[in-house]
Amino acid sequence: MAGQNFLFVPGPTNVPARIQRAMMVPMEDHRSPKFPQLTLEVIQGLKKVFKTEKGTPILFPSSGTGCWEAALTNCLNVGDKVLASRFGQFSHLWIDMCQRLGFEVELIDVEWGEGAPPDRYLAALEADKQHKIKAVLVCQNETATGVTSDVPAIRKAMDSVNHPALLFVDAVSALGSIDFRMDEWKVDVCVSGSQKGLMLPAGLGVTCVSEKALAARQTATHPRCYFDYLDMVKNNATGYFPYTPSIPMLYGLKEALITIEEEGLENILARHTYLAGGVRAAVMEGWGLKLCAKAPQWYSDTVSAILVPEGFDAAKVIARAYTRYNLSLGAGLSKVAGKVFRIGHLGDLNELMLMGAIAGAEMAMLDMGIPVEAGSGVAAASAFWRNNQVQARAAA
Ligand SMILES: *Cc1c(COP(=O)(O)O)cnc(C)c1O
Repeated sequence: MAGQNFLFVPGPTNVPARIQRAMMVPMEDHRSPKFPQLTLEVIQGLKKVFKTEKGTPILFPSSGTGCWEAALTNCLNVGDKVLASRFGQFSHLWIDMCQRLGFEVELIDVEWGEGAPPDRYLAALEADKQHKIKAVLVCQNETATGVTSDVPAIRKAMDSVNHPALLFVDAVSALGSIDFRMDEWKVDVCVSGSQKGLMLPAGLGVTCVSEKALAARQTATHPRCYFDYLDMVKNNATGYFPYTPSIPMLYGLKEALITIEEEGLENILARHTYLAGGVRAAVMEGWGLKLCAKAPQWYSDTVSAILVPEGFDAAKVIARAYTRYNLSLGAGLSKVAGKVFRIGHLGDLNELMLMGAIAGAEMAMLDMGIPVEAGSGVAAASAFWRNNQVQARAAA
């Protein structure tokens, strides 16, 4: 097919050409005296993205899912209780992993389209007088429904009852595009991956652990081996890895961190808010459709899940967009399959790239008989972006 594919799944995201080029490297000896420079540089650079001075970034050769497993197996004992909320496919999968690894999950089930409820976390923590709950899990940005949760509010709930549990946050589709603050929010493990806000291919599990999480690792007895934090931390201290790292991914990450530094993290976060505003204008004001996210407090700045009207199949819109217009939209997962299509708006993006996604989604919906007005989404996004600008954020 002539022209380019328009990649608007919420991960993998577009990899900028300069990062692609940075990854085209000959292989080298990962035990050489020169190698530590690269390791130490990327780990240091990641601290800024996590907003941490005390935390330790760790890179596993995995996707984000591996870092979910690392958090659980490094810090907990078999059978420990964790508190978690489920409101979409990703929060569901982390809970499913907890159960498969032998943890007991105290579940806060929430309707898909809403976020993590701080009041229900508080009630569960308050009732847990004996501190049986060892970890509190939150999915900061539920990519399946386009819902962002209030992580500081969960931390506040924990603090208000002096609960000693660890706080684990899934920031896979938030880190580097929605504000995340490791130290200020006292997060113990932040789980992320390379293929979303960091603008890289999948293949690096990007995580950060607090001093408290590393202390828990010293006594936690759940079996773990490949994903052992201590093997990593020990080797990383001198710039090496306990096993062969993906060298191109590390060079790509180095370039991604330079790219982020050049634009400025706060500017990037602000750009995501601004771009998301245009997409939401297209969906709600232009097409007259609804988001899966039920209220503005939950609207995600990195992904919008768009409900197609009753009686239509969102999967057909996605298929039409791909086969006819070379546009990749995100699928509806699990409970919302057929009901939503998703536009990912994170990473290396600008207004006109997103116009491609909006125009293409609109054409595909019209082709499937969905009664949206031709040009209405594009017009609404155009008005939004022409009348707004990236709002500078104060450095956090
Ligand atoms: C993408 C994603 C994951 C899974 O990450 P993989 O890299 O595919 O393993 C987990 N949680 C959220 C919120 C995600 O968006």
